[in-house]
Amino acid sequence: MAESNQAFSKILIRWYERHKRDLPWRETKDPYAIWLSEIILQQTRVAQGLPYFQKFIDRFPTVGTLAEASQEEVLALWQGLGYYSRARNLHTCAQTVASQYDGKFPTSYRELLQLKGIGGYTAAAIASFAFNEAVPVVDGNVYRVISRVFGLHDDISNASTRKVFEERLASLIPSDAPGEFNQAIMEFGALHCTPSAPDCKSCAFSHSCFAFRNNEVANLPVKTKKVKVLNRYFNYFVFQFGEQVLMGSRKDKDIWLGLHDFFNIEREELFDEETALIEVSNLISTANWELIDISATYKHVLTHRIIYARFFRVRIFQSDDFVSLIQSTKLKPISVGDTAGISKPVLITNYLNDTLF
Ligand code: SF4
Repeated sequence: MAESNQAFSKILIRWYERHKRDLPWRETKDPYAIWLSEIILQQTRVAQGLPYFQKFIDRFPTVGTLAEASQEEVLALWQGLGYYSRARNLHTCAQTVASQYDGKFPTSYRELLQLKGIGGYTAAAIASFAFNEAVPVVDGNVYRVISRVFGLHDDISNASTRKVFEERLASLIPSDAPGEFNQAIMEFGALHCTPSAPDCKSCAFSHSCFAFRNNEVANLPVKTKKVKVLNRYFNYFVFQFGEQVLMGSRKDKDIWLGLHDFFNIEREELFDEETALIEVSNLISTANWELIDISATYKHVLTHRIIYARFFRVRIFQSDDFVSLIQSTKLKPISVGDTAGISKPVLITNYLNDTLF
């Protein structure tokens, strides 16, 4: 028999008070800090996200200071977290709050949803943690706990399932402690009712949990769709003239928008030396260049893609050739020593760290 709604919330919040991790964004009702932590934690686990949160809050203590920063600086600070579109949305959102809301986040779930990069989950988190609005958060942890405790078999891959869980949560969330309830259920899912090894034997819900009592822990939540992983092949050409290399910020609507990389030819496979030589001779009309280095193959795993990359370093001997490459590739010369300070994907950082120029 499942807990009554009230008993469920009470047990959950009691568990949370005993077991919660001390995290800086839990010590505050400041919607800016809460928003920042939620956006960062969408990318990563808490242990990895914590130093990023600290870096951002130290450098940008208010939404106004973040709004005034350059996008370049925001992306550089974000480096290593991936999903750079979220960093750009973060910056845009800060600018909107600063310019249109007088530097104060809107206080309701509905208004928060209007802001760039704030979806249902983040809006619910800010509204409940900072402003005590009784609106439930729904993330992977919450799906898991609710489906297991109450025996919900709806497929969480279907968008329509969200509503089923929201309705269940709406009947559980206490109006006098909605923020605490939301924090508690997420923390319980993250620490106790974990995906593969939940601690059922010492669980406060073990006497009533549907999944435990019916031996269905491994089957819940139900999730059918598998995301297809796409392989991509990047052939990077690192054109070098003296101490300078050609780089540019990525403009296409694709991964890593705004970050810097080298001249890239994406094909269905990585080039061998012969193909690389042909490609370079198509770009440089003279013979005053040399292919001086071919890197090992780099494998870079993103959520829905695997990038395979090979770097072909080409030394240019004549400044005229370098200038015409700048014109044809629309990249910019940057001295090798300055590459450390520009925003770039981790893949490019790894290559630069591995390479002796
Ligand atoms: S009994 Fe197991 S499956 Fe049920 S809530 Fe507790 S940890 Fe999760």
